[in-house]
Amino acid sequence: MEASRSKPISDELLEILACPVCKTPVRLDGDRLVCDTCGRRYRIEDGIPIMLVDEAELPEGGAES
Ligand SMILES: [Zn+2]
Repeated sequence: MEASRSKPISDELLEILACPVCKTPVRLDGDRLVCDTCGRRYRIEDGIPIMLVDEAELPEGGAES
């Protein structure tokens, strides 16, 4: 058996991460970090969250505000 998949980032790191747009703490959704306020999704590359507005995936249908 190969080692079971671990979380893409640690809980400690997740706790300090927040959306750069609205400062909302993000939550982990699969291999993405999701902001529930603006709906942006941030990817994680090699354990490093890409918390950049320009790199974020926008929600379909546009952000509610
Ligand atoms: Zn946000």
